[in-house]
Amino acid sequence: MLQSFVRLILFFAVLQQAWSVDYLQQQQQQQQSASTSLQATEPGVEHTPAANATPATATATATEAEREENLRTIAQLPGLEKLAVPNGAYLKPFLVPRPVGSEEHRQVQDYIRRTFTALGWHVEEDRFDDRTPLGVKTFNNIIVTKFPEATRQLVLSAHYDSLYFPPPNEKRFIGATDSSVPCAMLVDIATSLNSRLDRLRGTGRGLQIIFFDGEEAFVKWGPTDSTYGSRHLAKVWSAGSSRAASSANGAAPPRSRIESIEMLVLLDLLGVKDTILRDLQTTTTAQFKRISQLERRAAADAASDDDYYFRPYGEFGFRSGIQDDHVPFVQRGVPVLHLIPPVFPEVWHQFTDNASALDEATIRHLTIVMRVFVADYLGLAQF
Ligand SMILES: [Zn+2]
Repeated sequence: MLQSFVRLILFFAVLQQAWSVDYLQQQQQQQQSASTSLQATEPGVEHTPAANATPATATATATEAEREENLRTIAQLPGLEKLAVPNGAYLKPFLVPRPVGSEEHRQVQDYIRRTFTALGWHVEEDRFDDRTPLGVKTFNNIIVTKFPEATRQLVLSAHYDSLYFPPPNEKRFIGATDSSVPCAMLVDIATSLNSRLDRLRGTGRGLQIIFFDGEEAFVKWGPTDSTYGSRHLAKVWSAGSSRAASSANGAAPPRSRIESIEMLVLLDLLGVKDTILRDLQTTTTAQFKRISQLERRAAADAASDDDYYFRPYGEFGFRSGIQDDHVPFVQRGVPVLHLIPPVFPEVWHQFTDNASALDEATIRHLTIVMRVFVADYLGLAQF
């Protein structure tokens, strides 16, 4: 008892320091780097990342204590019960076999459309045909956006298709971690933060979610048989011009949609107990550290270090070559936070990747941390 009390005090002291010093420095750097990147729009200049520090808003008014309290409130917002395994309202629609082209795949698209339309978000679809080893297939990325006119989007993402198995096994694989749980987490984050996100209206910043299609290979993973949706979207958005006519602060608007992505956060293979996440991308090390700090604050009653999932330690040399939907964006200079356990769950691509593999406490924990991180990143705790 005494030991855990001492531990709590120590946490508080350490985190308070991390919060006030590190965070404020990050904010200043971010403001500088954000304005630099918005002005650096010479033709041929690659997308300039602005994501390696936490953005600040010019209208920040909350004191440290108020911000702390706001983040705590966000962590405790209702809705987590909708991630209950297996019948929680956010999770159940995704816990079905949903290979590209199946009826369930279509139903999941309907669910995403319906849910985000009801939230008042802009829903758009990137529908296209592509050749696969099993013939031409139609894919459909779904992009939902709180403020589509914003020129600086924090983008969260996961893939909603599931791995295809040929008959007679076509209905046997669910992919609960891959990626039913990440999709359900995204629904929670959008829903729980929706009214707070209204405060960003007119600021030029916003939250966007991409549900990628066709992440899985049909026959054998390779550059032309996998990540169909993300490869297509990254290409289309690199060529297309931004919808935004001008940005809120008078700076030059991004030239293409891909440049409106401040940072792409990709969630994958989440939901089993004992998940360990590592800092996998050099462009977002500061953000990974930030998540880790916030996790320790949000879960200050955790019994031991083992209860923390975000482990920035040993960051040197722990870079991954994991292939996933982030790659086409990384290749185009987008800062990416890839939240995937580098040691894949044991059930990965097995028929056992179903509801029985999931750990509800882990899902709730990760969702709380992500809520708080998104709120913190977008400055929603400053009001
Ligand atoms: Zn997979």
